[in-house]
Amino acid sequence: MMDFSYARPADLAAAGAALAAGGMALGGGTGLLDLAKLGVARPVAVVDLTRLPGLDAIQVSETEARIGALVKMSRLAAHPAMRAALPAVGQALLASASPQIRNMATIGGNLLQRTRCAYFRDAAVGSCNRRNPGSGCAAVGGVTRGHALLGVSPHCIATHPGDLAVALVAFDAVVETWSPNGQRLLSVHDFFLLPGATPGQEFALAPGEIVTGLRIPLAPVARQARYVKLRDRASYEFAAASLAAGMSLGVDGRIADLRLALGGVATIPWRARSVEAALIGEHPTPAAIAAAAALAMREAEPQPDNRHKLALVPALIERTLTDMVGEPA
Ligand code: SF4
Repeated sequence: MMDFSYARPADLAAAGAALAAGGMALGGGTGLLDLAKLGVARPVAVVDLTRLPGLDAIQVSETEARIGALVKMSRLAAHPAMRAALPAVGQALLASASPQIRNMATIGGNLLQRTRCAYFRDAAVGSCNRRNPGSGCAAVGGVTRGHALLGVSPHCIATHPGDLAVALVAFDAVVETWSPNGQRLLSVHDFFLLPGATPGQEFALAPGEIVTGLRIPLAPVARQARYVKLRDRASYEFAAASLAAGMSLGVDGRIADLRLALGGVATIPWRARSVEAALIGEHPTPAAIAAAAALAMREAEPQPDNRHKLALVPALIERTLTDMVGEPA
């Protein structure tokens, strides 16, 4: 048993003050309570954000979706307008976790989920820079099949575990936050921090700053987007590799817009910009797609147990884009 105080603030100002004082945020509880039971999170004060007003709306216009941080994963996955405007978001959500968890977990909490690195989640392991800064990294030299190849540092090679954020990075979503200084908008890409020398700092949030929602631009390319997840079993499993992809062709048959982001292989949701750049303006021939897909892992730094992803990721990109070319809008 672990004693902690519990507060359920009624507004952002009170919530921000409680978090700035060291409280841990509680949304759906599927992350914090899990880690507390493992002894990885040791909250002294829990700040329940679920009664904050105005954070549970979904608004979809022709050009933008706005999603409150307290919206449940299952509700967003089933939202008809979102499914039409950006199907990759619903597909990513439905490929995540289990129905029970999706009914509880919030979108804000999903963004803020912690890594599934087994060494991080085992409180008996002393060496984890993400959990105990400066203690080392037990994964380096350990079992690394699920660890990252992209965006790694000598201090941490933990993989970003989420699916939703991969789709969000592909389509240039923006995170809304609140702090006593006012509202802040930052791209999802900038929201997730590379581990570098400070892997314990995972998100670009100041103490007491609260994620209040998401804004997702709804470009035409989003309407045919998809999320494809490769994993060891068909449900309730994290990605071995995943891909959020959107592609639109011009009237000349060349690729006019292309969005690609990878999950399961990087320390943050990873935009595959080199592949995008190689294909935009080109005809999507099998040869062009294969050549561009091979660029995806050019910067990879594999570990002994995850080298298979050097071939898995290009194959995933190649197969997905080939399928999309064969199924025009
Ligand atoms: Fe900790 Fe990162 Fe190393 Fe895992 S990979 S043990 S999270 S420092």
